[in-house]
Amino acid sequence: MKKLVLINPHPMGNVGEENVSVLNQMPVNLGYLKVLTPGNWQVDIIDETQEYAIDENTGDITFGGADLVGITSVSYQADRAYKIATACRKRGIPVIMGGIHATSNPDEAAKYVDSVVIREGITLWSTIIDDFEKGRLRKRYDGGLTPMEIYCNLSPDRKFLKDKYKYRYSGIITTAGCPFACEFCSVPQFQGQKYRERPVDDILNEFESIKGQYRGLILTDENFYGHSKKSNERVRTLFKGMVERGIYQNWFGFTSLNIYKDDETLEYMAKSGCVGVLIGIESIEEESLKSMNKNVNLKISVENYYEAIANIRKHGLAVWGTMVFGNDADTSGTFERVADFILDSHIDIMTCGILCPFINTPLYHRLNRENRLFRTHFPEDWKYYTSHHLTYVLKKLTLDEMIEGFQYLYDRIFATEVLRKRFHRAKDELNNNMNAAMFAFRVNLDWQNVYQHLIQNLKDLQTSGDYEAALKCYVDTDKQGKGKKLASIEAAP
Ligand code: SF4
Repeated sequence: MKKLVLINPHPMGNVGEENVSVLNQMPVNLGYLKVLTPGNWQVDIIDETQEYAIDENTGDITFGGADLVGITSVSYQADRAYKIATACRKRGIPVIMGGIHATSNPDEAAKYVDSVVIREGITLWSTIIDDFEKGRLRKRYDGGLTPMEIYCNLSPDRKFLKDKYKYRYSGIITTAGCPFACEFCSVPQFQGQKYRERPVDDILNEFESIKGQYRGLILTDENFYGHSKKSNERVRTLFKGMVERGIYQNWFGFTSLNIYKDDETLEYMAKSGCVGVLIGIESIEEESLKSMNKNVNLKISVENYYEAIANIRKHGLAVWGTMVFGNDADTSGTFERVADFILDSHIDIMTCGILCPFINTPLYHRLNRENRLFRTHFPEDWKYYTSHHLTYVLKKLTLDEMIEGFQYLYDRIFATEVLRKRFHRAKDELNNNMNAAMFAFRVNLDWQNVYQHLIQNLKDLQTSGDYEAALKCYVDTDKQGKGKKLASIEAAP
């Protein structure tokens, strides 16, 4: 029997979203590939957030051997993925790589692996395995966008993953794609701009089949609510269906602020076990929202944020906002305004990070054009492309001001005594939904740790002198006119 090993890489020492326990969910995407692999294969999955696939000292693989290895990766994992691929190929094991990074930068990935799968691999997976068995594995496949009907009667092998790593959280797909074009976001290019919706009955069946098996489920979509009346109605039917079928399950999902006026949907969500919603607030400065092209928030307008948060909370759902700093409009005063907003709005969780120019996004190309990217020694530097590192020269902020600003926010928002106070307030205000208040408290405690690492990362950058050097280079280049790059950056396709 042939053996396939599927790997979710994790750069050693990285502390990020994966350290928030509710986000450390099983790699459902690999669980799908496992069930799509023909039965004459033995399939193992290695999640490096749980165990390493290569030995720290020898650099050799830890899993004995395989006939074929598949690796998925977003950018911050890419260098680690290449190291694993190199170790496999040294042992004569062919490697296939897919995921957002390989999709955005297939030429780079092709230097380290035998075959690159761009976009979504689900529809092509059995063909790829068949090609491999017949000795005709292609250098590149384009899986296109998965029609959502494919998920009907197809469940990822959650049992295997749960038995192996004892995950407490799992994910479930209900939609894909996004019609917006926020400057920093890679979703439209990876998942397409068409909003794709999975049939409601199919989702309900999947919910039912795993009900009660996990402490919580995550709707992994970027926005489960959608932006059209039709999409909103569909999602209302989904949560109503959960209530009618008695599928009570703690869950949370990603959506946008436009859900706040839909009391009926919010009510069904609360009744179905929803503990909270994660919303990309991104900024409370209109100028920053404009520069990010975050039209979905501009449409609601910043002054309505308070009402939106209050209305969602009134249903007993915790509101988890995400915010990024380092926009060109941000100044040292932004941090104080954000701290006031967090405390005044009573938002339950606010995970704050640094704006990240993910590869091949409009933001990445703009900063590159403006000669402002300075961590460009790829592939090693891909590990910095997360919201916990600074990778570009700031406009109105100095690095010192950014460090002070994040420290100020920590003291006012994330210090343990403040988190305790916010927890007690949430208990009273979230419609007596203790699950939601506990959920928020747990995320906040986990985020406290991630946030401390973020501040340390900035301090390390300051000590290294790399930012000062980049700033000097940027200013010098600017004086000489446009067109000279800080460093050579491989053109993304
Ligand atoms: S940030 Fe959200 S709304 Fe904007 S493009 Fe990405 S998924 Fe769409």
